Amino acid sequence: MRTPFVAGNWKMYNTVAEARHLVSEMVPGLQAIIGVEKVLCPPFTALLAVRALLEGSDIGLGAQDMHWEPSGAFTGEVSPPMLAELCQYVIIGHSERRTYFGETDETVNHKVHAAIAHGLTPIVCVGETLAENEAGRTSEIVSRQVRQGLYGLDLSSIGEGQGNTSLVIAYEPVWAIGTGRAATAEGANLVVSEVIRPALLEMFGEQVSQAVRVLYGGSVKASIAAVFFSQPDIDGALVGGASLKVSEFVPIVQAASR
Ligand code: PEP
Repeated sequence: MRTPFVAGNWKMYNTVAEARHLVSEMVPGLQAIIGVEKVLCPPFTALLAVRALLEGSDIGLGAQDMHWEPSGAFTGEVSPPMLAELCQYVIIGHSERRTYFGETDETVNHKVHAAIAHGLTPIVCVGETLAENEAGRTSEIVSRQVRQGLYGLDLSSIGEGQGNTSLVIAYEPVWAIGTGRAATAEGANLVVSEVIRPALLEMFGEQVSQAVRVLYGGSVKASIAAVFFSQPDIDGALVGGASLKVSEFVPIVQAASR
């Protein structure tokens, strides 16, 4: 049994003051929902303030990216130990990082190794572009991203509780992110069941392939979340735009608890 998992990726939205306001409004609704691992991923600048507001709750905190080196002359970057002081999760390889900031499967791989080494749970994003989708290359691209992004990991060493591993994958077709055009739930489930879990099976064996939570991401809204969560291989969602609204994000998390 995989515990449902829903994370909100705030992207580059919310100052510290705005973050405090949003979290204060969101916490009571989220706290009332049981049986779902819930995570908020604000910008770096708001991590400390949001952490203080989440203290004592069962709501986790994550960052949206990090460098893989523990320290060094990398102006503007944030390291794994810096994050490990503040939060438990980190999104890695989001398509916006791949598209706008030159992130590759190789950098994703460095970051995933570093996250796990520092006790952070990586939420690793994979997904094909529209052109790749239209060219019938979805399986090839997603399979490559999983295999290269997770290459060389020893997943037997990372925590397992209640049948889950502390590695999470988000299948996010690039054409569905922020466009209002979500994938179909059946289509997304097929990519997870036919591409992502088989790649995990080949790389890490049966137990890991069944224990890793795989999320769907791409224009998830409260009105469509339940359809995705009813799919057998989709274990939750990585939510962008809708995670900035209490009236959207709380019902999405609620849908995952059923
Ligand atoms: C995301 O940022 O990972 C995402 C899926 O965004 P949105 O929900 O806005 O499409």
